[in-house]
Amino acid sequence: MEKILISACLLGEKTRYDGRDNLVEGLMEFTKFYDVVPFCPEVEGGMSTPRIPSEIRNGAVVSQEGEDVTRYFERGARKALNICSFLGIRLAILKDGSPSCGTKQIHNGRFNGGKVNGMGVTAARLKEKGIKVLNEEEGLALLSELLGKEAEKQAKRAQKERCHGQSGE
Ligand code: SF4
Repeated sequence: MEKILISACLLGEKTRYDGRDNLVEGLMEFTKFYDVVPFCPEVEGGMSTPRIPSEIRNGAVVSQEGEDVTRYFERGARKALNICSFLGIRLAILKDGSPSCGTKQIHNGRFNGGKVNGMGVTAARLKEKGIKVLNEEEGLALLSELLGKEAEKQAKRAQKERCHGQSGE
């Protein structure tokens, strides 16, 4: 079965900076179509949980205390790329808004809750290497498409079986 990378926090792992998760229950249904590989670039990059929140500012990642933590984010992104390349992963569902996983938006670097268009470090690296990156909403939309196709297939199969049954009567 093909593999898919999903932000660990979206699957309920408590990897967020504040020790919580971002669970989106429906996403576990991807296991019907893919081998799901949960991954948190910040934890894999060497950061602890909980941790001081960080945001991207002028191309660097800085913690709320002003420390440049870019190296952890780069390490997490490298590990994500290695895993994708080793496992042949071509699709990732990542938590939007995060300085690692954001696919469309990230926080604005001022720690005031504001967001700007942009990508997190890992999301950007994966995309550069041709891996398709979707946020959680797009992931759910893809999932409902896959589930719809699967239901259609099953309905056709059931109809075929009924036809065979009738012709055999
Ligand atoms: Fe979730 Fe990504 Fe943040 Fe880890 S780095 S907690 S996977 S959004």
